[in-house]
Amino acid sequence: MRRPFIAGNWKMNLNRSGAVALAAAIAERSKGLEGVDLAVFPPSIYLDAVRGAVAGSILAYGAQNIYHQSNGAFTGEISTAMLVDLGCRYVILGHSERRHILGETNEEVNKKVLAALAASLVPIVCVGESLSDREVGRTGQVIRKQVAGSLANLSAEQIAHVVIAYEPVWAIGTGKVATPQQAEEVHKDLRKILTDRYNTAIAEAIRIQYGGSVKASNAAELLAQPNVDGALVGGASLKADEFLGIVAGLNHK
Ligand code: PEP
Repeated sequence: MRRPFIAGNWKMNLNRSGAVALAAAIAERSKGLEGVDLAVFPPSIYLDAVRGAVAGSILAYGAQNIYHQSNGAFTGEISTAMLVDLGCRYVILGHSERRHILGETNEEVNKKVLAALAASLVPIVCVGESLSDREVGRTGQVIRKQVAGSLANLSAEQIAHVVIAYEPVWAIGTGKVATPQQAEEVHKDLRKILTDRYNTAIAEAIRIQYGGSVKASNAAELLAQPNVDGALVGGASLKADEFLGIVAGLNHK
């Protein structure tokens, strides 16, 4: 049985006090929740403030990116050691905005995944097709290539610590959510890819989140799909009510 995992990617939003207030509200209102992992991903500069706001709660936190080197002359970058120092448990890697706006390649994502695992951070590795890929029937091919590249050279032991987020690019921040059937189809395919690369037991144990315009009103039917193990949420994670409404959608699972 895979433990559901709902994560909020705050992207480059909020200011310090807004991040603290939102983290504190989610932490307070998630008291007593069991059987689910919850995490928020504030801008890195606010991680330390969020750490204070969620202390003693079930709400974990992480960063939206890292650099793969552990230290040195890499102006502007943040290392895994720095995140560990701030008590982070997770890091989002290969988000479509980093792939498509900042030009991050599968090879770079792979280096970051290996660095995160070496530091005992749990990477949430994002994959997903563009609208044109989907329209020409290339979804499976694109996902396969992203998995092969971003998750290259991972042992069975290492892959077991990875969370995958299926985030169709056309659904991120657009309000166009994948249908539960579309999400389930790709999640099932991802499990098949993992089975072929590792084995059934490993493939069945890995958590696969869906991301792309998830909100409280559409979460339950997405989360009800057998291979959808949670959600990576952007816009709707910026409001405590919406985020917790998505978590409530797990009750139908
Ligand atoms: C995301 O940023 O990963 C995301 C899925 O955004 P949104 O929920 O706003 O579509």
